[in-house]
Parts: sequence; C-alpha cells; structure tokens
Amino acid sequence: MEPFQLRADIAVPAFSLVPWEREFPCLVAGMSARDGESIKDPDRTNYAFHVGGQRERVLQNRKRLADQLGVPFSCWTAGEQVHGVRIREVTAEDRGRGRDGTDSAFPETDGLFTGEKDVLLSSFYADCVPLLFFSPKAGLIGVAHAGWRGTVGRIGPRMVREFVGRGAEKADIRAAIAPSIGACCYEVDEKVANPVMETLKGSFDEVLQPSGKEKWKLDLKEVNRRLLLEEGLREDRITVTGWCTGCHPELFHSHRRDRGKTGRMVAFIGMGKGRWSHG
Ligand SMILES: [Zn+2]
Repeated sequence: MEPFQLRADIAVPAFSLVPWEREFPCLVAGMSARDGESIKDPDRTNYAFHVGGQRERVLQNRKRLADQLGVPFSCWTAGEQVHGVRIREVTAEDRGRGRDGTDSAFPETDGLFTGEKDVLLSSFYADCVPLLFFSPKAGLIGVAHAGWRGTVGRIGPRMVREFVGRGAEKADIRAAIAPSIGACCYEVDEKVANPVMETLKGSFDEVLQPSGKEKWKLDLKEVNRRLLLEEGLREDRITVTGWCTGCHPELFHSHRRDRGKTGRMVAFIGMGKGRWSHG
C-alpha cells in the first residue's frame, strides 16, 4: 500500500504517512500537497520563505496546516536549508525557531531531530527527497532534506548516527522516504551520476539507468534507501513512497518540471503529548 495517502476530508491539501500515524497515535507525520489552483498561483500552497515574494501567505499557509493537524502553531520549527549535511538537535528552547522567517531558523541546517514533544519539525521540498525518522523506544523524531548533494553526503545515515548517539537502537529506527522526484522525471549528467556511483557500494544498476549520451535516469529515493540499509536499518522499517513530484502537477510543486517557478511543499513530523488527534 502507498504509505503517503492524500486526505480527502480536509481543507488544506496534504498527505498523511498513514502506517506511522496508525501505529503511533502520538505522531503527526506527512507532507503538504498542492492543488489545481496552485498551478496558476504557486504561493497558494507554498510553505517556504526562500521562494516567492509573499511572506504573509507563507505564514498563513503554515498556520492553516498546523490548525488542520491539530498542532499549536508555536510548535512549528525549521532550519535554513542549504543542500548541506548539518544536523541539529532541537531542544525545548528551540521550539518555534524558523517559524516566522529564516532569521530565526537554524542556520545552514538540513537535518533536525528532537526528543521533545510538541515540536513540529518541518522542511521544504520541490523534488528533493524528504527523509522522516522515528524511534518509538528512544522517543526521537527527525527530518532530513536529501537532494542529490545531501544524499551523497549521507545525510540519512548521519541522522541514524545522531539517533544512536542519543540511545536509539538501529533495529528500532523507522525511516520514511516521502514524495519526491522519481527516476521517470530525473535525468542527470555525470556531475551528479559520478558522485552517486562513488557513494554506493556494489551495483548501481537499479539507481542509474543510461538514458542518452552521458545521461542517466536517477532514482534518488532508492539511493537513500540503499544508504539507510548499509547503515544498518532493517529493511522492513524503511517505507518508500511511490509518488513522483514530477509526474503530478496537480499534487506537487516540482522545481525541475516548473523550471524553478514554483512553491515548496513541507514535510513534517511531530510528537504530541497524546492530545494531537487527527483521525
Ligand atoms: Zn515522474
């Protein structure tokens, strides 16, 4: 079954990470979507300050989504994404950083994790791979932004190590690979293909398919899955979406398809104190 299900019963278009939310009612996890009207008006479903010009609309969109999730807006927390591999732990004092603008966001930070309840970790996407993490026993959640640079920089395995450093067992760590660009829509040249080949152990036949002279179709979700397996995560603990952001203009912003003129979805995860209910 597709783990990311578009919810039909809601005002703000969004996907829920259904298997995690079912098994762990304390969690909210998922990703925003766009809708038909956003094709003409990308700001309508844009959640990131660094694109578009309309700060007020970003704030409004974030507030509406938080309301829908049943999460106080004060919990919304974000980093300043730079296609790097820096990961920061979010403490109770950090709650709300990056909520109202990039000035307060964790600088140059593409991964966030926390053991705190009532923190909604958020990060922003239009094709790059969102990685969500959860260790129920250790009570840790995380989100990491994995474009090709973050992927070959091993931001996924780095997050696993952060979790282990805070007492999580690898066998307990769940990872979910959220909607992002599929191999169908992601042709790359050697500038990207070479570092991917250098990063993966063993065969890369499943992730890079030749598609022309020095061109390849790249399955970046599969690269991330393979790296998490190499790091020691259990195969049955890694959930991968089938959604491709490039294939569905009615559901997703896509930087590549829309030639840069697009908004950003938000991928999010938070643990409540039992009162976040959204079933
Ligand atoms: Zn596609």
